[in-house]
Amino acid sequence: MRDLAVTYMKCQSCAAKVNCHECDAYLKDDLGREKTIDAVEVNMKQKLVSLDTELDMDDIEEVLEDRGLFI
Ligand SMILES: [Zn+2]
Repeated sequence: MRDLAVTYMKCQSCAAKVNCHECDAYLKDDLGREKTIDAVEVNMKQKLVSLDTELDMDDIEEVLEDRGLFI
């Protein structure tokens, strides 16, 4: 697993971050659909995304940015 510190644009509107488990579930499901990503863990309270993937860093950045996640 590769651990990445990220900022999630939609989390800016999460009041007091109490609903971040919903962000986690959504992102985990969405990223999990990518054929290039074997496994994914998301923890938005810690602003952390962990990916098991063969993608290089440029491609990872692209996949994340498509979803409003910035490294
Ligand atoms: Zn959130």
